[in-house]
Amino acid sequence: MSRVLVLNSGSSSVKYRLFDGAATVAKGLVERIGESGGEVADHRAALQGIMDEIDLEGLAAVGHRVVHGGAEFTGPTVIDDAVVARVEALVPLAPLHNPAALTGIEVARKLLPDVPQVAVFDTAFHATIPPEGVTWAIDKSLAERWQIRRYGFHGTSHAYVSRRTAQLLGRDPAETNVITLHLGNGASACAVEGGRSVATSMGMSPLPGLVMGTRSGDIDPTVIFHLHRVAGLPLDEIENSLTRHGGLQGMTGVNDLRSVLERRTAGDPDATLAFDVYCRRIREYVGAYLAVLGRVDAITFTAGVGENSPVVRAASLSGLDPLGISVDPERNERRDEVISPHGARIPVCVVPTDEELEIADQSRTALSLSR
Ligand code: AMP
Repeated sequence: MSRVLVLNSGSSSVKYRLFDGAATVAKGLVERIGESGGEVADHRAALQGIMDEIDLEGLAAVGHRVVHGGAEFTGPTVIDDAVVARVEALVPLAPLHNPAALTGIEVARKLLPDVPQVAVFDTAFHATIPPEGVTWAIDKSLAERWQIRRYGFHGTSHAYVSRRTAQLLGRDPAETNVITLHLGNGASACAVEGGRSVATSMGMSPLPGLVMGTRSGDIDPTVIFHLHRVAGLPLDEIENSLTRHGGLQGMTGVNDLRSVLERRTAGDPDATLAFDVYCRRIREYVGAYLAVLGRVDAITFTAGVGENSPVVRAASLSGLDPLGISVDPERNERRDEVISPHGARIPVCVVPTDEELEIADQSRTALSLSR
């Protein structure tokens, strides 16, 4: 048995979970790091506090969640100075996300110099998407020079959930095709063919694809030129608008889907439209990925919205009965593991995601440790 500490360092927070085998023995969240009124001054103090609190006896590894691994990190990677330098070099691709992970790595390595540390990248699972699925039709020299391509995110979640779906259906993951719908505050869809990602909805950043809590998802890039040239908005303001004031937040003024659903029930037209846009986008991606995969063995909902909102699950897949896709109202309401009617051609599943457990397991794999 080996203990693994999983760290998810954000710009002002650190989430941690300590695993013994597959069991969680400690977990917590330090928030508002460095903010006035926050509990701790910086990441070092936050991690020191975590180390003091938990029992580090038998700790075999620390697994770090890193958002962007660029094109080069295609799996969990044991951290050394060279890896840190390579992750640093990727900061321009993920200026909002990678610096926090680097701080977490730097501090954890200093505090636990004898414990091997592993970086698990949100992008890595998507390294198997074929070139035609990650290349955009833009000037080749620009794309190459500036590393412009689709990378995709939420990889640990899509990997975990697609494998669990196959197991749930009593199938071999290597022979199972799944469309996974990770619908949380961030949201993305993924087409998984025999355990390998072959398409996903996020891009160079986590901005495109599905409608999210505060991110717009797909828009015509011309919107940006128009807001800049015609509306006179500076680029940072446009970026801020699309990433923090877009999505459900932008359309309704609230980012939490529960609030949108309450307003919709009360007859609010903005909330009604936002819900329809949200669900239609999911349906469009399901249709696209049916075509990418050809044969689909399951469609799986996960994350905050996917696991908890029967109305989103039902509306997203409505009208697809001719394709063998439907949702049984009672199973959906009860949140059974399989919510499609008995004998449906394509099972529809609800599988709770567990990114931290997947990070712990991938960290062990990278170090050839057993659970
Ligand atoms: P996550 O990022 O996976 O933690 O998902 C967070 C989001 O899940 C929240 O912003 C909510 O919009 C959504 N959520 C959580 N519980 C429910 C629920 N019971 N019904 C609808 N949405 C929910």
